[in-house]
Amino acid sequence: MQDATLPRPALLGIDLGTTNSLIAVWQDGQARLIPNALGEVLTPSVVSLDEDETILVGKAARARLTTHPERTAAAFKRFMGSDRQIELGTKTFSPEELSALVLGSLKQDAEAFLGHPVAEAVISVPAYFSDEQRKRTLFAAELAGLKVSRLINEPTAAAMAYGLHEQKFERTLIFDLGGGTFDITVLEYALPLIEVHASTGDNFLGGEDFTAALLNACLKSWQLTPSMIDPQGMASLGDALEQLKCKLSEGPQSLSWRHADELYEWSLDEAAAVKIWESLLARLRAPIEQALRDARLKPRDLDSLVLVGGAARMPAVQQLVATLFGRLPYRHLDPDTLVALGAATQAACKARDGAIEELILTDVCPYTLGIATMRGKGIDGAFSPIIERNTIIPTSRVERYHTTHPRQELLRIAVYQGERPWVRDNILIDAFDVTLTPTDNIQELDVRFSYDINGLLEVDVTLLQTGERHSHSIDRSPTGLNEQARRDSHNRLSTLKVHPRDALPNRTLLARLERAWMQSLGTQREHIAEWLHNFTTVLGGQQPAEIASHRSELNKALDQLRL
Ligand code: AMP
Repeated sequence: MQDATLPRPALLGIDLGTTNSLIAVWQDGQARLIPNALGEVLTPSVVSLDEDETILVGKAARARLTTHPERTAAAFKRFMGSDRQIELGTKTFSPEELSALVLGSLKQDAEAFLGHPVAEAVISVPAYFSDEQRKRTLFAAELAGLKVSRLINEPTAAAMAYGLHEQKFERTLIFDLGGGTFDITVLEYALPLIEVHASTGDNFLGGEDFTAALLNACLKSWQLTPSMIDPQGMASLGDALEQLKCKLSEGPQSLSWRHADELYEWSLDEAAAVKIWESLLARLRAPIEQALRDARLKPRDLDSLVLVGGAARMPAVQQLVATLFGRLPYRHLDPDTLVALGAATQAACKARDGAIEELILTDVCPYTLGIATMRGKGIDGAFSPIIERNTIIPTSRVERYHTTHPRQELLRIAVYQGERPWVRDNILIDAFDVTLTPTDNIQELDVRFSYDINGLLEVDVTLLQTGERHSHSIDRSPTGLNEQARRDSHNRLSTLKVHPRDALPNRTLLARLERAWMQSLGTQREHIAEWLHNFTTVLGGQQPAEIASHRSELNKALDQLRL
């Protein structure tokens, strides 16, 4: 007999961001954000290794970025798909292992909120993420014990949340500038249909670059270089500049920073910031222009503009968008939460939840995919497109090729992604060999690319003379993960101790107090030292109610000091 009381699997959507991550659930006909252990919906995508070798994720780790930079990592999504290793104290992690720890923390929050285990979610990725970056995101989810029911492009997820909210029929451009990536998507709503026409972007442009540019300018004005400053000093200056950047919309800002017994001061207003950011702001233009060209639209053809991502809050960015489009962007919905809400909405669509059955979404492949060929005699390395950028997905396209000489025994298929005529300027995704039965003639072959809804590619090669077929799932790029690396990651994570969720509020406050102490001077520092001492004493008393009320007061006081 079947148990009719089993809960339906939760319909979860995750925004795994460079700076912050969120998890949402589809419940009672709408997407809702799930709070973390601190009651907040934004969980900083930061991981730190505590002194007792336990892992901290989120706000506590974010505070330790300043006090313990050698044991803390942030913005690792930027390295997803690379073989970069990140050191936290004596331990080493890959970007996907760190992402897995963030996903694991979100999973725990969802389980605490829903009261039952969860095993599946829709996860969003930047539209411009490559095949390898998508694969690594899937692997991060696997490490966290989550099955990915679908990878959804971030701007497309935002478009779903926005479209449902507005119930409009219009052409929209989604401008998504997060901490580390920039995506532009042009789409059309004709509800229940949401049709993506074009997606472009830059995987290495985001709010973090704007902070880094301020850091360079500030050090230059003080005639200092990073090599003259210890990691903790660099981290505290980076943190102060990040805060300064976020407050710039309120008016001119200044900061004081102590280094080697000297007090340094720096002031900045919006006009000076725009000068420092000139080249970054210029880089925002090209993807916008390309997306409009690909969608065959002029700025005036758009009915609305939606800004998504924390960095789209910058006045300089909003000004640029307003100038480019000759109108003000739509900003009624919170740019931080749209992607997670849209991902949960997609989870509901996929599960055919009654409240949303009708919504149909079509997405595109944002870049051109093809193979390396010879052009003319002996000119090697020309890029031959098979799936052109902005083709609606899922798609399957075939092109015919031939071998280069009679009695050829081996054929190398090298798959590339990019928009340049020579493969050397594009990204190598994978390469594999097909063994041929040599004949006296040049042989013909069909190469078919099938690109699925998650943005993953499969290649089929058919030799026309023999009808022989070779299928190849692109499951590993030349820099990709092999089975052993995967097993190692599983083993490494399974031996880690993770800070218990219910202890996080106290641990986070201690980390915040330590950071505040470090960032302040004089009498303010004395106050914070006293708070730290008092809170440690209250913790020792082990009275939950007293601890909670003390914690709430101190958190409020720190919020007021903006520390
Ligand atoms: P996301 O990945 O969407 O969470 O975006 C994070 C980025 O948004 C970070 O680089 C933040 O510095 C930036 N950000 C968040 N709030 C603001 C703000 N008020 N002004 C400027 N940048 C912001």
